[in-house]
This record gives sequence, structure tokens and C-alpha cells, in this order.
Amino acid sequence: MENYSAILIHPEIEGGRCAGEIYFNANGVFFTATQKQYSIAFNYLEIKAGGAGNRFIFFTQKGNSEISIYTADRSVLRNQELCSYPQLLPEIKKSSRRARSLYITLAIVAATILLLFSSLFLFKDNIIESAAKKIPPKWEHKIGDKLFSALSLNYVLVKGDSLHKEVMAVAKAWFDEIEKEGFDIEVYFVKDATINAFALPGGKVIIQTGLVENAKSWEEVLGVLSHEIAHVSRRHHIRSLLNNVGIYALVSVMFGDISAIIATVGSVGGNLATLANSRAFEYEADETGWNYLVQSEINPNGMITFFETLESQTKTKLDSTVSNTLDLSFLSTHPDTQDRINKLKEKKVRLQSNLLIYQIILLLLKNHSLIMSKL
Ligand SMILES: [Zn+2]
Repeated sequence: MENYSAILIHPEIEGGRCAGEIYFNANGVFFTATQKQYSIAFNYLEIKAGGAGNRFIFFTQKGNSEISIYTADRSVLRNQELCSYPQLLPEIKKSSRRARSLYITLAIVAATILLLFSSLFLFKDNIIESAAKKIPPKWEHKIGDKLFSALSLNYVLVKGDSLHKEVMAVAKAWFDEIEKEGFDIEVYFVKDATINAFALPGGKVIIQTGLVENAKSWEEVLGVLSHEIAHVSRRHHIRSLLNNVGIYALVSVMFGDISAIIATVGSVGGNLATLANSRAFEYEADETGWNYLVQSEINPNGMITFFETLESQTKTKLDSTVSNTLDLSFLSTHPDTQDRINKLKEKKVRLQSNLLIYQIILLLLKNHSLIMSKL
């Protein structure tokens, strides 16, 4: 004989209810507790699943709804004595079904929550990207300005120079296009012998004269510049930040509430510029930068040759350069420079084959019109 923990609701008990146990025999269900004993014969027994989410199985006597016994132990529905009473089987089945529906509901809720969380992780990058779009570039620009004034104290800017004019001559149209999105691209050259360049949030790009001196051509400088500008236009600063805030803040941004982000920036402060760009961001900046150059009809090969120059420098020199500068520096140690060169070379091959196809089409069209004119 099996016992199950149960509660008896009875008007004669002090407080209206008491805890005890139930068991079954061939005649019916018996409730026992020190305060009270109670039984219902199978002939008069009614069984129902009830309570929040049908968590409990209720036993009542027909025509007496004031008194009931209930248990949270649903295995009671499989009790041998209870199930051997044929008239009760339809009610047992119905109660089991209702009790099962709770499990199904719980399973659905759990699966939904799991799905929601896994999709948050799976699509985190996409979520971050669209969250970044909700934050106005002007806001990033303000942070960039603050950082710039702090940096200016340590930097000697090259003013009224030909370097700037030369860059603007080729890149003006390209900058104008990016500025339509709300950025404010400004290029500064600073006197520093180390090979470095970096972008600040919002659009200020700093190129050190060491980089210009070590570049073999203008295309190489523009290659670095396009990479840095891609960090700005692809919102890498804010995306790095969003990557470091919790899911709650991220979801809030998605719903247009950027207060949590503002609070985070308040605590992160100037460190926004020192959040390291991820490997993925570096590749993305290379790829976007490359596309900017192609669109502006600037030879993108400069990007490759500049990387090759860097790669040929001794490792020690590169490392020491990196450690002295901001993490957002062009010379980020990750990913590996050779990997970046290889990826860019793949793009070069694709570009060359596209150009070849384009030339062939032009040639065919020309011949075609020659043939047509002869006809
Ligand atoms: Zn970079």
C-alpha cells in the first residue's frame, strides 16, 4: 500500500486545512493526519486536476464540494487500487491529460526561453550591429572629441601641411559619401617617428609621420587611412562597447533606450578608444577599406604592400611599437599580418579577374560594333 503526501480541506479543522497522507484500499481513499481522519468511498469519489497550472490532483465526494483532499504527487493517478475501480477510469484519464498539459506548457516555455537565449548568442553580432545603428554617430563624435583633446596634449600636430592637402585631393569625395551617414571625417598628421595610425570614435583619424615616412607610395598611406575610416564607418568603437555590455543593456538599445549604454560609457570613460578591436573587426576594416579604395579608383594594392613592409620589419620592432600605442592602432597584433595579406591578395585576384572580364566584354562589344558597321 502506497502513501502520498496530501492536504485535507475541511471546515471542521482549525485553519480549514491540514497536512497528512493518503492511501487507497479496495473501498476508497483514506486521509490520515494526527488532527483528522477522512475517507471517501470509490462510489462517491470525484477526481480532478486543478490549482495553478493543474499542478494538483483533487479528490472530492460527490455533492460535497466543501471537503476535498489534494496532492501534488501525480503518481497517485497510477495507483493500483484506484485504477482497479473501472468507473473512475475516465476521470483518471482526464486528470492525467490535464496534468500533462502543464508539463507540455512548461516544456514550451522552457524551449522558448532557451531558443531566445541561444539566438541572442548566435546572432549576437547581428544584434550588436543593429543596436549600434540606434546610437547616433554624433554621440560617438562627442566622445571622440574629448579623447582628441586629451591626446592633443601629447601630440604635435602637423598644421597647414601638404600631406593633408594631398589626402583631401583624392579622398574628399569618398569622405563626403561617408559623412552623409552622420560621421565627420577629419585626418590629422602628428609628428611621431613610430609607424602608426588610429581612428577615434566619430571620425577623427590620426596618422603618425613615421607611417608616412615608411610608406613607399601615397596608395600605401591611403590604404591605412581607408582601413581606419572603415573602423569608424563600421561602428567598431561602439560595437566593441556593446559587445562588453550585458544582454539587458543590449536589448534595451534595440528598443531605443540608450540610457544603459550612456551609463556604461560614463564608467568606461576614455577607455572607449582602448577597447581592442576584435580579429573580426580588423578583417572587416581591411575589407571595407579595400572597397572604399576601389570605389574611389585608388589602387588598393597599397594596402597589401604596406602590410608586407610591416611584415618584413623585425618582430621586436613591431611589438614595441604596438605596446607604446593605443590598442586601436593599425598595427594590431591580432590577427596575424600575414593572414590579412593573404585575405587581401584573394580580393586582389578577384578584382583582377573581374577587370579582365570587363575588358573582354568591352573588346567584344567593340568588335561587335565594328562588324555591325561593316555590314
Ligand atoms: Zn585596425
